[in-house]
Amino acid sequence: MASKIYQCMQKIGEDIIANKEFLTDLDSAIGDADHGINMARGFTEVLQQLPQEEEDISVILKKTGMVLLSKVGGASGPLYGTAYMKAAGAVTGKKEITLEDGKNIMEAVIGGIKMRGKAERGEKTMLDALEPAMEALNKGVEAGESVEDCLTHMCEAAKEGVEYTKTIRATKGRASYLGERSIGHQDPGATSSLITMEAIRAFYLE
Ligand code: ADP
Ligand code: MG
Ligand code: MG
Repeated sequence: MASKIYQCMQKIGEDIIANKEFLTDLDSAIGDADHGINMARGFTEVLQQLPQEEEDISVILKKTGMVLLSKVGGASGPLYGTAYMKAAGAVTGKKEITLEDGKNIMEAVIGGIKMRGKAERGEKTMLDALEPAMEALNKGVEAGESVEDCLTHMCEAAKEGVEYTKTIRATKGRASYLGERSIGHQDPGATSSLITMEAIRAFYLE
């Protein structure tokens, strides 16, 4: 039987693939109209290559990162590839994860993306969804919230972050070539990060 972590990655992959056109449309407004294509190609390959029975979460995350690094071009391939590799490093050998592990994963993901992309929050990138999400998660864990509430608050903060990207100018990636004209459009990468987090929430609340 497919392991729980495989099923979770399957949910993420299916939701990313289902949003291929939406993500590509967002990228057509401020980039080169390929974000959905890139992500869908990557996750189609991820779902083909992941060992379905593998229960070690770090093995699944690492493999996902390696496939994304090798199959997805552009900015998002190396960034998400690094993110999944770093996530793997935060939960080495684990078959179950706690909220504390979730916090560590988010911290590692964001650290990896910043290291690769040299961006900060407020530059209209995936970090504008991920950083507020991490803060909400941390706050929820500190307040002793349930897993359900932590994940819900994390996704709400990510959604607000995506909305916020509409109001700001891109200063990293292709969208930065548009300068002021990037304002008014939602960032594709922040949106795929939101879709990922919502998939995780939906999977765990199922
Ligand atoms: P490309 O721009 O090379 O075509 P994609 O369209 O797949 O790549 O991905 C674009 C997304 O990548 C952007 O919407 C943004 O969220 C993200 N991005 C671009 N550059 C950076 C960066 N330096 N740091 C973090 N995220 C970035
Ligand atoms: Mg693009
Ligand atoms: Mg491209």
